[in-house]
Amino acid sequence: MKFTFKRGVHPAGQKTIAKDIPLREFPTPAEVSIPLSQHIGAPAALCVAVGDRVLQGQKIGEASGFVSANVFSSVSGVVKAIVKKRTAIGSYCDHVVIENDGAYEETLLSRLAELTPDAVKSRVREAGIVGMGGATFPTHVKLSPKTPVDVLIINAAECEPYITCDYRLCLEKPKEALEGVRYLMIALGVKRAIVGVEDNKPDAVSSLKSVAPEGIEIVSLKTKYPQGAEKQLIFALTGRVVPEGALPSDVGCVVDNVHTALSVYEAVALGKPSFMRAMTISGKACSNPGNFYVRNGVSYEEIASFAGMLPETVKVISGGPMMGFAQADLTPSTGKGTSSLLFLNEGEVSGGDKPISACINCASCASHCPMRLMPMFIERAVEEEDAAKAKSLSALSCLECGCCAFVCPASRPLVQSMRRAKKLIRARGV
Ligand code: SF4
Ligand code: SF4
Repeated sequence: MKFTFKRGVHPAGQKTIAKDIPLREFPTPAEVSIPLSQHIGAPAALCVAVGDRVLQGQKIGEASGFVSANVFSSVSGVVKAIVKKRTAIGSYCDHVVIENDGAYEETLLSRLAELTPDAVKSRVREAGIVGMGGATFPTHVKLSPKTPVDVLIINAAECEPYITCDYRLCLEKPKEALEGVRYLMIALGVKRAIVGVEDNKPDAVSSLKSVAPEGIEIVSLKTKYPQGAEKQLIFALTGRVVPEGALPSDVGCVVDNVHTALSVYEAVALGKPSFMRAMTISGKACSNPGNFYVRNGVSYEEIASFAGMLPETVKVISGGPMMGFAQADLTPSTGKGTSSLLFLNEGEVSGGDKPISACINCASCASHCPMRLMPMFIERAVEEEDAAKAKSLSALSCLECGCCAFVCPASRPLVQSMRRAKKLIRARGV
């Protein structure tokens, strides 16, 4: 039996570029610039001043609401400046610039006295853990669902092309990741967890299966994009359908990424807050691809230089090629959600650079949309500024997965249209 969802697409995987390169630590530069907004929700409030000496793991930004997350220094050193800088997603926020003294003198969170649901939840919040798959939603919020939950789903699908850091974690740290899953199960009070891995990574499935304790199932999913999207993953693994406008917890599920589970392990068992993550550097326009543990605050410029960015680079993408963000320059710094940085040549992006032409009503976008939307009609509603129509066509359910744009023979910028539709609906208060 193949565990999967209906529709979706099959982009070229491109995983072979980095998949066999083990994780190693990225050489941290003499200065890091750590964003205070590395998560969905309110930016963290600055809690250090210029001139302060900070330790690795010391809090430098305090969560400023329930949907927010603490931010920690990734090195020891002196705070040199607070600057406003662009992030990888195009917004601006304060960054704490720290001169790295190279000592990596650290401070850890106190040892947990007991493993109760409340203790784990509060540790996850204290450690600033967010969705490490790239969504960056604060994990402690997911651990307090309003409706009863009976299954924890762990996303180890890694369905975006090129990215292989979660795959490496499954191979290199399966015990730690599954221990993190166990802590998440304690926090949610559930007895069952299912870890979904795409079937193009059979060795990751075997690695996890070899150490999985009772109550944690490892399931091989059909390789298809976007297999790792929450609603698609829930359907593939449980057959449950999350209705429009509802949350996974409304059908008894919570979904977390496998890297998030590893971060939970580090916070609970080792007292380590979230200031470093596994990341893939890949693409045919760099000479030194691989998988790295990268501290928060390393500039993309440093990464490009280490990666050996080649002159034929025509596009740099933060995140995967389907849902990531193309970068206008290399000023942003790594954060909790930086799963990859891709250096792509002409051949790798040529499909996306075809001239835009008129819609030919082929309906290919609709027949591949995993949310069963009709992107061509939503695009027309946006062009007519008809917010009510866009809403009635369920534009708010769009995952921004990019399947529609990927298959469109007219190269319509459909994802941008979906984003515009959402903005229009919210701006008009429909
Ligand atoms: S309309 Fe949205 S959910 Fe559907 S394929 Fe396009 S981006 Fe994905
Ligand atoms: S795939 Fe492109 S050309 Fe075909 S209906 Fe959709 S928007 Fe129009």
